[in-house]
Amino acid sequence: MPSGSTALSRASTRHVEARLREVLADPQRRDSDLDVHFQPIVALPRGDVVEVEALVRWHDERLGEVPPDVLVGVAEDSRLVGDLGRWVLERASRAAASWPDGAGGRPAVAVNVSPLQLEEPGFVDDVRGALARSGLPADGLVLEVTEAVGVADPGATHSVLSTLRRDGVRVALDDFGMGRSSLTLLRDLPLDLVKIDRSFVSGPRRGASDAVLLRLLVDACHSLGLQLVAEGVEDEAQARTVTALGVDRAQGWYFGRPAPDADGVGAASRAPVPTPLDVRAEVVGP
Ligand code: C2E
Ligand code: MG
Ligand code: MG
Ligand code: MG
Repeated sequence: MPSGSTALSRASTRHVEARLREVLADPQRRDSDLDVHFQPIVALPRGDVVEVEALVRWHDERLGEVPPDVLVGVAEDSRLVGDLGRWVLERASRAAASWPDGAGGRPAVAVNVSPLQLEEPGFVDDVRGALARSGLPADGLVLEVTEAVGVADPGATHSVLSTLRRDGVRVALDDFGMGRSSLTLLRDLPLDLVKIDRSFVSGPRRGASDAVLLRLLVDACHSLGLQLVAEGVEDEAQARTVTALGVDRAQGWYFGRPAPDADGVGAASRAPVPTPLDVRAEVVGP
């Protein structure tokens, strides 16, 4: 039997799209072939789990595991991203509504939203519906958007995000610092949180200048009333660095990998974060 990635790499985009269309059209297959994994996001410096990110997973009988970025790309190109996004939103809200309080209260669930999904006319109703059906309060939901939001229609995107924020939903800008992220996004988008791309934290071409940039971003975000989340924290040294730089929250393999909800990620205990005093002792000033 060919391995999943081999079958996937041999498959044409059109074939992947056809498989996805079938899955989304069949409620039973949708609930069995698609899944959502959850990864904790902790508040620094204590390490309480305050958010949990929902990450879609697709296991197809013929294609094997289809990586989420491939899945989302295909869904965006074939107008299926609305259906996919609604399914993830429902599944994630229902899971989050059942999580017990942890040390940091009940964690909010963070759901990734494609720019195309946000531009669909029913998006606000989809979000409100998912909250109402699951019983999750609006402040239990964070929507993660990327720098590509609002490129097609900045006014409409702004109004959708502002409407949902007035309901109590929070908005995070994902992968900030990747690609052509501009600082004006921080000023122009209605945001609560900014997630710094993992290339600044654990990427292969990291250097001393990353700490300088991180420090600048912490200052900029705090001045704008935004909280900063470091993505891709893979080891203790990186956890110490982001804590010392004043980053508010962190996510990464060091604190926990994405896992099925059955593994209790939502109720995960505190991660082993170095105490602030330890950190201060170790960090060399700028
Ligand atoms: P993202 O939103 O930036 O999610 C974080 C990604 O980083 C996840 O990859 C996660 O597994 C990975 N990650 C977390 N901690 C670490 C770490 O310490 N080291 C490294 N190397 N990686 C880490 P994943 O699950 O493969 O998802 C990839 C991307 O696919 C996501 O990036 C997001 O843009 C997209 N995606 C995933 N689920 C959905 C969804 O339901 N809807 C939409 N629109 N996009 C989604
Ligand atoms: Mg994300
Ligand atoms: Mg990200
Ligand atoms: Mg990403």
